[in-house]
Amino acid sequence: MVYTSKNIYQNQLNDIVEKGLYKNEWKITSSQSAQIKVLEGSNVEKDILNLCANNYLGLSNNEEIIEAAKNSLTEKGFGMSSVRFICGTQDIHKELEFKLSSFLEKEDTILFASAFDANTALFEAILTEEDELFSDKLVHASLIDGMRLCKAKKQIYNHSDMADLEKRLSESTARIKMIVTDGVFSMDGDMAKLDEISLLSEKYNAMLVVDDCHATGFIGESGKGTHEYFNVKDKVDIITTTFGKALGGSMGGSISGPKEVIEILRQKARPYLFSNALMPAIVSGTLKALELVENANEKRKQLIAMSDYWKNGLVSLGFDVKEGSTPIIPIMLYESKVTQEFSKRLFENGVYAVGFFYPVVAEGEARIRTQISALHTKNQLEQALKIFQKVKSELGV
Ligand SMILES: *Cc1c(COP(=O)(O)O)cnc(C)c1O
Repeated sequence: MVYTSKNIYQNQLNDIVEKGLYKNEWKITSSQSAQIKVLEGSNVEKDILNLCANNYLGLSNNEEIIEAAKNSLTEKGFGMSSVRFICGTQDIHKELEFKLSSFLEKEDTILFASAFDANTALFEAILTEEDELFSDKLVHASLIDGMRLCKAKKQIYNHSDMADLEKRLSESTARIKMIVTDGVFSMDGDMAKLDEISLLSEKYNAMLVVDDCHATGFIGESGKGTHEYFNVKDKVDIITTTFGKALGGSMGGSISGPKEVIEILRQKARPYLFSNALMPAIVSGTLKALELVENANEKRKQLIAMSDYWKNGLVSLGFDVKEGSTPIIPIMLYESKVTQEFSKRLFENGVYAVGFFYPVVAEGEARIRTQISALHTKNQLEQALKIFQKVKSELGV
């Protein structure tokens, strides 16, 4: 690289460090779980409680899933060396699509390499400049990028502000109106008001798209997601989700919805047409995860109980905790440098909970996002509360 460009990038990096916005990556040496091993220094392993994984049901290291994936490696091979429409569709890819459709109660499903890909694929393939999108201000980055890629007009309504959404819908003359929201907002842990949103989508004849990445598997009575939680299963038209969180946590994503939409996506979605088919072991592992999720009532109860315990504990210690009723429990510290220091001291005391700051959240909105797993025990969380209390008084926040 020529010296001047190298300099430009180095200055940018210095600036990021200066502002306390540098993201460090810890090296984990164990598999993902409630308690993990992390390298501290070059070769010292530290046992630490993990409070920031999307491992909601604790399936990331599940024996049955691992076994299913191993068998798949033996029977179906390592890779597909093709996109889906050339020679990348195995029977298990179709089986996973079928199972997801029936679990989410939608007509059909299409797989992607990630939910990020699913969200960047969706809008461009099914909307034109005659159409209009109405999206919550706090939707996930991948939805924002996906909407940027399509020619439809865009309306961004204030976070969960139904009056704002209604005003914008009522003024629209677009051919297709499409409301877009996260089911559970990943940074704040609150849920979209799908009961009210679905009334508006009916009133104004708009399609409703929900990204349920932080809900599929554990929100709602049988874990189907926010459409089940709000009892609006048939009012949500399209669901995008990930296999990288509760469903075993490997990777991959999907879009489920009306069969015409899914068929159009198979014909036109660029990340589907031009990117490799999912690895068979991931497909088989995710199929097993879905099966386990369908019998995970106890795990879901445990997850709710532990989330409540954790949240109430933090509140009684005087932490500024975001409202919401999900296992995502953000502790607001506002300042990125304070958040970094808080996280560092938690780490030293045996708790892994990273800080989130700009550009992952808005400037001045830095936080420690904690996430509970069904694997966490009351004992572990009690210990963690003591550590949070200790660090809080050390830093005087
Ligand atoms: C995690 C997440 C994604 C991205 O999922 P991947 O499968 O990891 O690409 C998309 N949307 C939301 C709301 C998420 O939380």
